[in-house]
Amino acid sequence: MGAVCGKGSGEGNEAAISTRVEGITGGGGGGGKKALPKLPTNAIKSVPEDHQFIEESLARILLFSKLDSGLQRKIVAEMYERNVQAGEILINEGDTGLAATELYIVKSGIFEVLQRRQGQNVRVNLKQRGDCFGEISLMYDCARNATVAATVESVVWVMDRAVFRYFVREQQENQVSQVELFLNSVPILGSLSRDERMRLVDAIEEVVYQQGQKVITEGDNGDLFYIIKEGEALVFQGQGQRKVNHLFKADFFGERALLNDEPRIATVEASTKLVCLTLKRDTFTEILGPLEQLMKREKSPQVVAQKLAKLQPRGSNQRPAAEVLIKRKKKGKNGVESWEVVRAKGHLDEVQELRKGGSMAVDPEAKDANTLVLTEGTVLGGGAFSRVSIVNEDSTGRVYALKRMRKSAVVQCPEHVYCEQAITKNVAHPFCIRQYASFQDKYHLYFLFDLMSGGDLMDVLVAEAKVINRRVPESSWQVACLAPNVKMLQGMSEELAKFYIASVLLALEYLHNNNIVYRDLKPENVFIDVNGHVKLGDFGFAKILDSGNRTYTFCGTPGYVAPENVLAHGYNFSVDWWGLGVVMYVLLTGRQPFSTPKTDDPMVVMRRIVDENYVVKYPPYISPAAKDLISRLLERKPARRIGMLSGRATDVKKHKWFEGFNWAEMEARRNIAPRKPRESDINKRIKELMETERRTAGKTPKETPEELAECEAVFSDF
Ligand code: ADP
Ligand code: MG
Repeated sequence: MGAVCGKGSGEGNEAAISTRVEGITGGGGGGGKKALPKLPTNAIKSVPEDHQFIEESLARILLFSKLDSGLQRKIVAEMYERNVQAGEILINEGDTGLAATELYIVKSGIFEVLQRRQGQNVRVNLKQRGDCFGEISLMYDCARNATVAATVESVVWVMDRAVFRYFVREQQENQVSQVELFLNSVPILGSLSRDERMRLVDAIEEVVYQQGQKVITEGDNGDLFYIIKEGEALVFQGQGQRKVNHLFKADFFGERALLNDEPRIATVEASTKLVCLTLKRDTFTEILGPLEQLMKREKSPQVVAQKLAKLQPRGSNQRPAAEVLIKRKKKGKNGVESWEVVRAKGHLDEVQELRKGGSMAVDPEAKDANTLVLTEGTVLGGGAFSRVSIVNEDSTGRVYALKRMRKSAVVQCPEHVYCEQAITKNVAHPFCIRQYASFQDKYHLYFLFDLMSGGDLMDVLVAEAKVINRRVPESSWQVACLAPNVKMLQGMSEELAKFYIASVLLALEYLHNNNIVYRDLKPENVFIDVNGHVKLGDFGFAKILDSGNRTYTFCGTPGYVAPENVLAHGYNFSVDWWGLGVVMYVLLTGRQPFSTPKTDDPMVVMRRIVDENYVVKYPPYISPAAKDLISRLLERKPARRIGMLSGRATDVKKHKWFEGFNWAEMEARRNIAPRKPRESDINKRIKELMETERRTAGKTPKETPEELAECEAVFSDF
């Protein structure tokens, strides 16, 4: 069944449900984030009992002490031990490059620090347990300024620059996207240009409050506004009498301070340790000018026109354009291969970013250094209107996944395409697919994504599912060995499913923290990379919900939609937790929870979803803990559904099905994926896809000139 979209669909409204027009994948934001660098094979990681000691030792290191505690912990957990024999030289004075990328802390033993003075090695210092050296190597390539040798058998903890940088960069990217999401959600800031936004992002400062500390006090004058980065806060009114709100990560308060100098209308108190990003009114006006002017600008004819232009038909594209050439091999009638070149229109900023660091020869077809040249390779997937293939970027040699959608197929729901385009620009998370660029030609829209060459979770399920024989007692008093032998379908193992469900859970937690509801969870939208790790993709239905807001659009895939979605009651993040429950059921059983007795009618399935009397059946091989978690996720009342309760995502992480699961490792993507995509599976898949391609070749619909004109108008801002 395909995914669907429509407004307020419900019983008797089947006509409103169109089969999902081929969608959109996405993820990403920021520029060129790399994977967490690998530690050397055989590296022995620092043990948790040592972490506090290491953190204390590192407190003296400037770069490190400036990081927030969560990040410090992540980095310390990535440090590993190295044994150094007595007399062995750990650092050589003058060494550069790879020999100068590590910082060390002495775990045990003694080191002498030697410097060459007039041809002689002079001992200038001794280092022992807790001492650090090599800080500068975390910053840049700098020759070692001394030799360090062990005088007895010793052990050091090692921190690699690449690992350190990785986390620092991740934090910054996350911070920028958090602030950007905030800026996007304040109506009066709607007219800011990207440049103005970035300047505000840069002006933001971090402030830490201890538990119980007051952040702002009712009645006081204030000129700061706050976004919560870490921790929680409570809001009181009536001089601390009345608790009126509970704020979490990504919530913001005090924004009135930006508008005027009225006294604060509430008191906000840190209910845990609280880290806030703050912006001063002065800074704000410095960057954007007086607010009255900004408000005027909001109502100015240009801005009004801009806003109208966001509704169809769309206005002109304001981002500078750049050319994208897509080259593909084509077989002529006589069997001779030739190159076909498609010229598409992209965005200059993205093209320049993609070509950064590229040194290879640029295709002669390219007019100038601002042209992106992509060469198409194998097809990776797709449906009726979309097609995903591997492409090679000419100047850097990097490979990506290129998704192509037929404009005429998505022209009825353009807001999804635009939403996805905007959201995936801001999403930066290891479990969400990144989008690097978008562009279009006359007939198609394109997205350039992280390459996930291992297929999707449905492929894994198909490969892992098997028919088993199981004795099922017909009643409780029947002796098990006499019970009839029943053939039944079993999905993947619970261990394997746990890895996938945990990955998706982390992606959802991140999205929800950033006010994004995903709305189309299903195995087909969870993609697998070469190593077997997974990322959530296909953000075609994702949407930003302003704090406390609900959305009413009917959206999703029939077997996976939540009751509140079907009933158009207005919903928010709850639908994703329901979706997770359905996915978990599907992975474990190979079937959908609302599909028995078998039916092809999506409306029958959706009636069962809302019907309190329809009871989901669990095959006997499912563990009690798994069954319990699924049933809590498939709770029909959103307010009672796990994931929506006070602990939010944490409640799901703490469920007994995940007992003993290493979340820290998972979050850092340090764990080895339990299943690597098999080469044979991938090849088989590709063969099937090429087969389908061949069969459907030339069968693409021909648009009328009117349709083409409509597509052009609707997607002119893409
Ligand atoms: P649709 O909106 O048509 O469902 P998807 O974005 O889900 O499109 O992509 C369709 C299929 O293409 C996926 O199921 C997957 O097999 C493949 N695919 C999509 N994105 C990627 C990617 N980034 N890397 C590799 N394969 C992909
Ligand atoms: Mg999909």
